[in-house]
Amino acid sequence: MAMEARHAILFEPVRIGPKTLPNRFYQVPHATGFGAIKPRTQAAFRGMKAEGGWGGVCVEYAPVSTDSEETPAVAAEIWDDLDVANLALTANAIHAHGSLAGIELFHGGAYSVNGASRGTRIAPSAQGVELIWASGAREMSLDDISRVQADFVTAARRARDAGYDIVYVYGAHGYLLTQFLSSVTNHRTDGYGGSLANRARFHIETVEAVREAVGDDCAIATRMCIDGRESIPGVRIDEMLEVVGMLDPIVDLFDVNVGAWPEDSGTSRYYDEGHQRPWVMRVREATDKAIVGVGRYTNPDLMASIIRTGAVDLIGAARPAIADPFLPRKIADGRYGDIRECTGSNICILKEETFAHVGCVQNPTAGEEYRRGWHPEDVPPIDRPDRSALVVGAGPAGMECALTLARRGLAAVHLVEAEAEIGGHLRWTRQLPTLGDWGRITDWRAIQLAQHPAIEVITGRRLTAEDIEDYGADIVVLATGSHWAADGSQPATDELIAGAERALSPERIMAGERPEMGAPIAVYDAEGYYVGPGVAELLALEGYDVHLVTPHPVISPISDATLEGDFLRRHLHDVGVRMVTGVTIGAISPGGVAGETSLGEAWELPGASVVLVTHRQSDDALARQLRARGMDVHVVGDALLPAMVSEAVFDGHRCAREIDGPHPDFPLAYSRERPGRAD
Ligand code: ADP
Repeated sequence: MAMEARHAILFEPVRIGPKTLPNRFYQVPHATGFGAIKPRTQAAFRGMKAEGGWGGVCVEYAPVSTDSEETPAVAAEIWDDLDVANLALTANAIHAHGSLAGIELFHGGAYSVNGASRGTRIAPSAQGVELIWASGAREMSLDDISRVQADFVTAARRARDAGYDIVYVYGAHGYLLTQFLSSVTNHRTDGYGGSLANRARFHIETVEAVREAVGDDCAIATRMCIDGRESIPGVRIDEMLEVVGMLDPIVDLFDVNVGAWPEDSGTSRYYDEGHQRPWVMRVREATDKAIVGVGRYTNPDLMASIIRTGAVDLIGAARPAIADPFLPRKIADGRYGDIRECTGSNICILKEETFAHVGCVQNPTAGEEYRRGWHPEDVPPIDRPDRSALVVGAGPAGMECALTLARRGLAAVHLVEAEAEIGGHLRWTRQLPTLGDWGRITDWRAIQLAQHPAIEVITGRRLTAEDIEDYGADIVVLATGSHWAADGSQPATDELIAGAERALSPERIMAGERPEMGAPIAVYDAEGYYVGPGVAELLALEGYDVHLVTPHPVISPISDATLEGDFLRRHLHDVGVRMVTGVTIGAISPGGVAGETSLGEAWELPGASVVLVTHRQSDDALARQLRARGMDVHVVGDALLPAMVSEAVFDGHRCAREIDGPHPDFPLAYSRERPGRAD
């Protein structure tokens, strides 16, 4: 296989100040949960991107001052020699593959958490701050301004000493530099407020000082929000182009994006690939310096075409580089069908923010490079490859398990699926409005399964315990999935919903069953993720009077962790779904549905039919039957425990890697990192 000639432009080197990027693939700074506290994990994770061909690879935001401190989130603090030594591991890992290493020096200003440091929160002007422990931010004195600028300089020297080639002054996502730029948050009457030149002064002076300190050794980058569909209050393209013009003489690389984080990292549900282009493509009007933009790019044709316009120089990526660290190499080798395309689900962000350890629905090895020693493209050869395996159920767990067993060298792997198509629950998830891109999890695996000579995929065959026994496979893995509870059970209460048998399940809705038109429908979402809202939207689009009812204080709280909660709720409102929060339902009858509010008041929706989206239960009957017969079987994914799709993929992959271990159903120990110097 060979690369298409039209993609060669992506592999041209790009000069940025004193450094040269080997190609146009650039992993922009993004959080991982590794920061300064998991230095080996950080190094292995970023080094893998360089190995996969990303010419520039950055670590996440690095606070320069103790009054910009992120606990409980994890950042790459660069405060002392220990941080330098630990962050040097990452720079070295990136350099080992000929790529450049970048670091994003940062101050959060009014958005600083300061939970561990107990620093006072500072901002250009005093302001209230949403929900940070009954506090706000105080106005920076001129001393604060020069101190923070000095902290940027000290951090820049440390970054240079740690081996970083690209040093950022970070001014996007609404943090301190943006707070200075925006007239909504900057009300100063001194030289740092008022006119645009004054509001830009802090940014310009900081870049100048950093450049003065390390500009001969490092490329100087700055990251800026320039506008967007939602944008950040007070940040608009015309002014931002002027600021780019002011910064032009002192910046080597402009890393530009749009909006606050939920827009910048817009999910595929609400933002298309390349959604930032209307603004990003205008930055060239103000500078000839190198420009990088992002937009969840996975399509090489689109990448090459936007480079060809000359408006940007580098293809920036965070999520697509997590989903496929080897995306550039695969394009270079013409292996287009092997690219694991980012689904834009933002489960990486949910995991980084909530579990302080990044993970991915497409790439089960993301974040496991150091602690489990996993490589996205290589799997260790299996002992005794002459064995056969039977994997029952072709959902995400089964597909990934079968594929990984075959990649490890097993002679014969049969993947048997009851339905006519593979994909498991994604068969219908991808049919829900706005969730089509989640189908990429199936599509990538369908291509890989079809290509692998040792794999046979058999669809339309529901195996019984006898069938599985008769199959005679040496290794049996059950990936039979789960179903939505229909028995009236729900999280957080022991009482069964009376009359639950009258309700429909999501599976039955997706198979085409419908309640009577005319009467209201209550979609009861006790899970709080995407299925309840998805079913509600589907029915609303068909003309039903849909009430999305949840016991949670907000609709779909899990979508807040994926940064899409606000979009989701607005979208549901726009398509006519009525939203009811804080209600636990207790009974379904011919007269409708009844429940109780969180304040203890009675609630009812007369005449309503109900779809129950409460929780899932494992389909583990086969496992029980086979074990009762004395068979040694392994159970993976939702059949073991229903969870997010990222966990099903991970579990299928893990089981295949650990199949010859002492207990493949329970993960092997992994390497942990503890505070101190990592060598
Ligand atoms: P997971 O997320 O763990 O991969 P899914 O629910 O997505 O689980 O997929 C499970 C798949 O297993 C479904 O496609 C289902 O049709 C299939 N399946 C369940 N039981 C059997 C069986 N006895 N024989 C074959 N396929 C089965």
